[in-house]
Amino acid sequence: MPLLDTFGRLHDNLRISVTDRCNIRCFYCMPEHDVRFVPRAEILHFEEVERFVRIAVQLGVKKLRITGGEPLVRKDLPVLVRKLSGIEGIQDIALTTNGVLLADQAQALYDAGLQRINVHLDTLDRERFKQITRRDDFDRVMAGIEACLRIGYKTIKINAVAVKDLVEPDIVPLARFGREHGIEIRYIEFMPLDAQGLWLRDKVLLADRMLEMLSTEICPLEPIPDPDPRAPATEYRFTDGIGTVGFIASVSKPFCLNCNRIRLTADGKLRYCLFAVDETDVKTALRDGSTDEEIIQIIRETVRQKWIGHEINTAKFVPPPRPMYAIGG
Ligand code: SAM
Ligand code: SF4
Repeated sequence: MPLLDTFGRLHDNLRISVTDRCNIRCFYCMPEHDVRFVPRAEILHFEEVERFVRIAVQLGVKKLRITGGEPLVRKDLPVLVRKLSGIEGIQDIALTTNGVLLADQAQALYDAGLQRINVHLDTLDRERFKQITRRDDFDRVMAGIEACLRIGYKTIKINAVAVKDLVEPDIVPLARFGREHGIEIRYIEFMPLDAQGLWLRDKVLLADRMLEMLSTEICPLEPIPDPDPRAPATEYRFTDGIGTVGFIASVSKPFCLNCNRIRLTADGKLRYCLFAVDETDVKTALRDGSTDEEIIQIIRETVRQKWIGHEINTAKFVPPPRPMYAIGG
């Protein structure tokens, strides 16, 4: 039986966080100082992740995304990618990274079976990069993107977080860069998942506003009929035929009704939603000799609890206790 929730949504997409640690400090995700990370002993081993994925595949999971924290700070990540890409039933494996360590690892990850990569980059301006990430690693991220282009990854995308009154000057240059290199830019509306509680509704640069900026300053865009209606991004192509962009409009146009995702945190908690306030412990079951069947029941029960959608746009919204870096974006 596939993994259905009580609203009939089919779950075939698993996001796996491999660490909550990170080598930069984006202000909309992490605090600047004194970040408290999960002790290493609490982090799932690769063998535990692999077993969980093998079990999830029996429930119909086909697509994986590895994330974090910063996944490339986890030692030997290509070893995990190789294990996961070898699992029968996994059709697609992708990675989300801040790109700082990518130049050194892109080839090993590709050789291990990684086909798709999303590099997080909000700006092409070195000073703004420093302001956002509180680190001076812009050149390293660019080197990482160049390495992926050289190697020939099937898909390279850039994730750009859209914060109002900050990144407006970056929206158009990023799209131009994407058009030049065959990279889709995905603009992600700033979500209330930052560690310091800085999020405010009027700090969100809305997808419609960005669409307008791109149409006016580059050329008109038209929606791309969606081959996968359950993907979170709404995609557009430039009508001059050069390039595409995507918008993840979690705030202005929530896409919960099509959600097909579950998330495994680095410390072995299963979450049915990015914004869930509760989660299920699977690490204990992975470590106490529980059978695959028992773990299947845990997964099914977690998905059964899934709510119809997040409440960002209502007064009832409560931000999750874990910020983005500790969930896995
Ligand atoms: N460290 C990697 C990275 O930055 O890509 C992977 C983990 S990060 C949590 C995953 C994605 O979350 C990032 O690409 C970034 O675009 C997004 N993100 C982080 N904080 C966010 C926020 N408050 N609102 C919207 N997107 C956010
Ligand atoms: Fe690190 Fe990614 Fe969070 Fe930025 S968004 S602080 S790169 S985990």
